[in-house]
Amino acid sequence: MTGLGRGITEPEPVSDDDWPGPGGAHMPDGASPDGASLVQLHESIATLLASRGQWRQAYQHLRSALELVHADRTEPPRIPEQLRREVDRLRREHAEAREQSIRDSLTASYNRRYLDQRLVTLLSEWGGKPGGLAVALVDLDWFKQVNDTFGHLIGDRVLQRVVELLQDGLPEDGFCARYGGEEFALVLPAVDGPTAVAMAEAARIKVENHDWNKIVLGLRVTVSIGVAHEPAPGVGVGPERQLRQADGLLYTAKQSGRNAVAYRVGGRTFLAGPAAGRRAVTEPRALAY
Ligand code: GH3
Ligand code: MG
Ligand code: MG
Repeated sequence: MTGLGRGITEPEPVSDDDWPGPGGAHMPDGASPDGASLVQLHESIATLLASRGQWRQAYQHLRSALELVHADRTEPPRIPEQLRREVDRLRREHAEAREQSIRDSLTASYNRRYLDQRLVTLLSEWGGKPGGLAVALVDLDWFKQVNDTFGHLIGDRVLQRVVELLQDGLPEDGFCARYGGEEFALVLPAVDGPTAVAMAEAARIKVENHDWNKIVLGLRVTVSIGVAHEPAPGVGVGPERQLRQADGLLYTAKQSGRNAVAYRVGGRTFLAGPAAGRRAVTEPRALAY
């Protein structure tokens, strides 16, 4: 038998291995190579159509696959070229649709949906790896003024450029996601606390020192960042709690004069880099951690 009983699953990527020639490795015993490939093709198309909610067409392809399995054939059926092209096209469209569903359309960074899903997966698969997991929330300073002074289109370009700067130098498996509006989350896996703070401070400096005059003369952009580091991810601290911690620290960075990175060690709040010399660090709003 073929995989007809598997149910609808994520389609496999197309590769030459999916098209075994005579005697190919995937052939079930007694099945003709082309017959089995044709069944697989119908199944693939059905899976892709079902993932798009095109149930009627998916059902038709499953029926075709079933008929092929039960047909009493002496001659192996030929695989129509059109069917191969159809499955290639559907797979391409499926991959594009999935990519679009996890990206922010303005900045091409990941979106909030991806952030939420990825954080849950990261925590559930952590399994005591060393380093810990840091989440940094980055918010542009006085961004409303940028829009008011230079217009919304310039504001959009600033957001795009900030994302480029934030994405530069992320650790392996790290990523940037748009958290909402002019706020972004940097997820930094397998880094210790001081490294996470150093990375956030490097990002802050990169934004501050960028030549914004290239976009429009007189433009200046800075960001404030709250870094929440979790040394033992997945042990009692869920993604919402860590995001809340980062948000509280972002608030501290804002309250302490902006263009700063705030973090917490041993129950006390600190500012990184030159901002450390500022007086009066406001404690975060959410002190429930
Ligand atoms: P703060 O330093 O306290 O963060 O001040 P702020 O002005 O950055 O914060 P506020 O929340 O007052 O304003 C955020 C602005 O971000 C208002 C909103 O119009 C703008 N914004 C949000 N999303 C976009 C976007 O996609 N494009 C543009 N151009 N502006 C955006
Ligand atoms: Mg802001
Ligand atoms: Mg904001």
